[in-house]
Amino acid sequence: AGAIQFNQVDFSYQNERPILQQLSFNVLPGSKVAIVGASGAGKSTIARLLYRFYAISGGSICIDGQDISTVSLDSLRRAIAIVPQDTVLFNNSIRDNIRYGRPDASEAEIDQAIELAHLRRFIDSLPQGDATQVGERGLKVSGGEKQRIAIARAILKRSPILLFDEATSALDSASEQAILQAMREVARNHTSVVIAHRLSTITDADNIIVLKHGQLAEQGSHDQLLAAG
Ligand code: ADP
Ligand code: ADP
Repeated sequence: AGAIQFNQVDFSYQNERPILQQLSFNVLPGSKVAIVGASGAGKSTIARLLYRFYAISGGSICIDGQDISTVSLDSLRRAIAIVPQDTVLFNNSIRDNIRYGRPDASEAEIDQAIELAHLRRFIDSLPQGDATQVGERGLKVSGGEKQRIAIARAILKRSPILLFDEATSALDSASEQAILQAMREVARNHTSVVIAHRLSTITDADNIIVLKHGQLAEQGSHDQLLAAG
């Protein structure tokens, strides 16, 4: 599960200039695809369209062969878990913040998500472990820790598709490496779509889609793209 198809997608915000033009690409189930491109190229727009925040004006978007305009928003948003650029943490324990991903998750599932997101060592170093309160009024956590909490939250949703929307863009490079490591492990069990500014952050993607002004400029592995210049 987790195949994604963009078929000649056209999109513009409020009938203004075209943002995406005849955009087509395929994401194989279980694979890791990265979408890169300059600021304004349309990367986040792709994420918003996958979540159906907006309707497209031409073409189609399919998940596992099904046109997403024909499925309920609930089931669509269950199929895709987003790790956003800037995660909101509540003034609750770390465990509760993770549980927000799926309120009926068992404690064992939360533990597993904590391991996969590389949070264990961070949590164990706190005086009260995962009962420590985070958020505005609680413990201040670093950008990298916050993103790992977001990853654990997303894992818990058990969605076939994980979408990282510039999830490392606000981090220093040490935190970025830790997040990329966590993303790599999580990606083994999911289709993952990684939206990134720079090619250097996603060397291990199965396919990299380079977007220019809302159009597919080129695609291939990291090595293929480097060879093509
Ligand atoms: P990226 O994620 O690659 O930086 P975006 O998908 O955010 O690019 O934006 C693509 C283009 O769409 C940009 O020119 C941006 O200004 C425009 N855009 C983004 N959001 C809106 C919006 N809500 N209304 C109008 N134009 C928008
Ligand atoms: P969550 O599942 O964590 O409650 P949402 O499903 O509301 O979050 O949003 C997921 C991602 O989409 C977040 O990165 C959020 O910033 C972004 N987002 C939410 N609403 C919009 C919108 N109207 N337009 C563009 N992006 C949005």
